[in-house]
Amino acid sequence: RSVQDELRQSIRTIVDYPKEGILFRDITTLLGDARAFRRAVDALVQPWAGSKVDQIAGIEARGFILGGAVAHQLSAGFVPIRKKGKLPHETVRIAYSLEYGVDEMEMHKDAIKPGDKVIVVDDLIATGGTAEAACKLLQSMGADIVAACFIVDLPDLGGRAKLEALNVPVRTLVAFD
Ligand code: 5GP
Repeated sequence: RSVQDELRQSIRTIVDYPKEGILFRDITTLLGDARAFRRAVDALVQPWAGSKVDQIAGIEARGFILGGAVAHQLSAGFVPIRKKGKLPHETVRIAYSLEYGVDEMEMHKDAIKPGDKVIVVDDLIATGGTAEAACKLLQSMGADIVAACFIVDLPDLGGRAKLEALNVPVRTLVAFD
């Protein structure tokens, strides 16, 4: 079985969550499957195996789980990008729009050095608004974003183009229509 098929089958779909009409792609079943979890992390990092990456930036909260594993695999550091108000030291913030209203995410202002090679990690890209904000925040601190990686792509929602417009290459493993 291909990695793509195995990962696709390990992801559970929840109908009408968090609200009616939404098909939520639940990756907790992938995380709970030891072989699928390992294969997902291995496949995500494969293009950068053996190359120098300074930091993995994980987007709260599922990006922390995957990002930690990716950082270990690439011998890189880990930088949490969090919802506002959760980080203890001085931060830099960016506002971004959600389906209803706006939110803000932040990271520690000393987390990234100019020129650091950074890979952004989250579980899924939909409209790309979340990852776009994370990439803009990192780039504002001088990060050289090598790539943004996701297990799942929802290509109909067009997220990839938002990141490519920032010169960020996008890697995804499984697409759902
Ligand atoms: P975007 O900003 O690209 O529209 O939404 C992506 C963000 O929302 C990611 O942080 C992702 O974790 C979360 N998200 C949106 N839809 C889903 C979904 O169906 N499944 C999961 N696991 N996360 C989702």
